[in-house]
Amino acid sequence: GEAQEEKKISSVNGNFDIDLDASHVLHNSLVSIPLTVASASGSYVTFSNGHRVLDACTGAAVAIIGHGDPDVQAAIQEQMTKVCYTHTVAFTTPVAEALANDILEGNPHGLCRAFFVSSGSEAMDTALKLARQFYVEIGQPQRRSLVARQRAYHGNTVGALSVSSHVARRAPFKDALILTNVSYVSATYAYRGQLEEETEEDYSARLVKELNEEFQAVGPTTVMAFVAEPVGGATAGCITAPRGYYQGVRQLCDKYGILLILDEVMCGSGRTGTYFAFEQEGPGVYPDLITLGKGLGGGYAPMGAVLAHKKVIRGLQSGTSYFVHSHTYQAHALSCAAALAVQKVLRRDGLVARCATKGRWLEKALNSTIGECKYVGNIRGKGLFWGIEFVKDRATKEPFEPALRFTWRMVDETFRRGLSIYPGAGTADGIRGDHVLIAPPYNASDEEFEEMIRLLSEAYGTVE
Ligand code: PLP
Repeated sequence: GEAQEEKKISSVNGNFDIDLDASHVLHNSLVSIPLTVASASGSYVTFSNGHRVLDACTGAAVAIIGHGDPDVQAAIQEQMTKVCYTHTVAFTTPVAEALANDILEGNPHGLCRAFFVSSGSEAMDTALKLARQFYVEIGQPQRRSLVARQRAYHGNTVGALSVSSHVARRAPFKDALILTNVSYVSATYAYRGQLEEETEEDYSARLVKELNEEFQAVGPTTVMAFVAEPVGGATAGCITAPRGYYQGVRQLCDKYGILLILDEVMCGSGRTGTYFAFEQEGPGVYPDLITLGKGLGGGYAPMGAVLAHKKVIRGLQSGTSYFVHSHTYQAHALSCAAALAVQKVLRRDGLVARCATKGRWLEKALNSTIGECKYVGNIRGKGLFWGIEFVKDRATKEPFEPALRFTWRMVDETFRRGLSIYPGAGTADGIRGDHVLIAPPYNASDEEFEEMIRLLSEAYGTVE
């Protein structure tokens, strides 16, 4: 009931009498033990208490081709018969090479190398270190600053969290572990950021101007990189960029020799209807470094990657023969086998294109069912990546107080009815992330998509 919600919203602030031996896993909640997942198949997850949910957010935008795909299972098993672990700092494997080729060969964006890691956060840390070492090697060691955006997540390791705007996750660490050479500019958040008298182009130009001003304030020759999620996910609720924004950003970065790091951990791997989300941002837009994670391995194995533009690799090579960074489990053979098999399924079943077509369907369906409802402030997104922002008052956009209460009611009620959606979280610009994410499997059936909409709107009806 109410009390439980309060507990969830305010996280831990009391003496909860919990039996320390009830579980020996250190769960994120220190006061309760989460439900146990017994099995998962296709678009459904089943709990040990028998409850079954349609996974409309693929965990956290991870299980992009659903659960239990036989081809992925077979690929992992086959790899097991060859080699599972090898010291990939010193050696490579055919499967790592094949995966990198699969993703990068013939790409028109100048991306030429992939560094494989085990998570999105590691990918972000790796990207930051690549950027830093790049400048050291090309003789610009004074470039130490980073510019990031409000409402961005980027991850939980110390490096990734340093460029994150996730207030709650930064709070206990910000005075001790978080890098301080980071400043923030506004997110591309039209719902609350675009002025009434502004066109999309005006809004875009204003955001680029703000970025330029931030570069000037920091000193453009001291900035290493600008970091952004092309479609802001977990903390932003699927905010997209206004037309021309990334072209403006790219031009500014080029003008001052600042690297552009795009974080596509959540929005990449096809989710927005193109393999990379940035590919929809107009001619001339490319990243110097781009991170992937989540959907890359489809949840079959831990997987993340940084893809580097040839200019970054050339720059590194101009000063050194070694990238000073490694992980014991980088390019793990089983993870590479899983990710390679996922790429093949995407291609075989035309699933990136399906993200685009089902995305248009989902947009219409969301708008026509709950779009005009009392507490639905904004529905936004791209492809199979949609955010629904809840507000207390549609006319004034006044948020709910306490924040996230309505969101959690929606998450709980949909879950009770057999649908899993993803809750928002607090961010740096004071708007406390009252939204849910819908990020279905790319290969959910038409009937499953209809079921998602039905359960969502029924849950909404109950909660309102
Ligand atoms: N970047 C973005 C955009 C994310 O959404 C996430 C995770 O939610 C991360 C990075 C961090 O990835 P991971 O949780 O795999 O470390």
